[in-house]
Amino acid sequence: MLNLILFGPPGAGKGTQSEKLIQKYGFVHISTGDLFRWHTKNDTPLGKRVKEIMNSGSLVPDEITIDMLQEEVSKNPNAGGFLFDGFPRTVPQAEALDAFMKKNGTSIHHVIALDVSEAELRARIAKRKLESNRADDEEDKLNKRVAEYFGKTIHVLPHYEKQGRLKTVNGIGDIEVIFSNVCGLLDKKG
Ligand code: AMP
Repeated sequence: MLNLILFGPPGAGKGTQSEKLIQKYGFVHISTGDLFRWHTKNDTPLGKRVKEIMNSGSLVPDEITIDMLQEEVSKNPNAGGFLFDGFPRTVPQAEALDAFMKKNGTSIHHVIALDVSEAELRARIAKRKLESNRADDEEDKLNKRVAEYFGKTIHVLPHYEKQGRLKTVNGIGDIEVIFSNVCGLLDKKG
């Protein structure tokens, strides 16, 4: 089993790289952002709880997010590996994920962080705003999401660095080059 966390700020290219990684390695893809969007779109009780929070660009409380994540992992008992995208975003989420994986007799094998400067992120998300109708790509919400990343999520990196699992890939440049660098890390033996 090979479990990977793809880490990076909003707009870093996690979605694009995830698609390519799933195709190549057959990961079960768990994107907490996609799951929350599914719940809000389908107006489920969970969707009703998180809609306002998401639209404001804030993080959903840890307890709600961790419960949803664990439920999703449990739905895939035969998975060959998971790709976590957009999770964990806080240190308590990372700790909960470690404990949960351990309970299931496995662990996180790789944490790959896509490194993209704040200026590049803002330019990319402004472009994405023109192409999508995600309510949280509006400027004030975007500012909030970037602030949540640099205020809370970035602190997850030392957690995995201490475990010796963190690898960083330059997230600026050609998509195929970035992909090949990510694959190089995953394929490296030992
Ligand atoms: P994303 O598509 O990953 O950027 O997520 C969109 C939104 O969903 C975020 O701005 C948060 O409101 C919420 N969200 C997604 N993943 C998490 C998480 N791990 N912890 C808290 N909130 C999350």
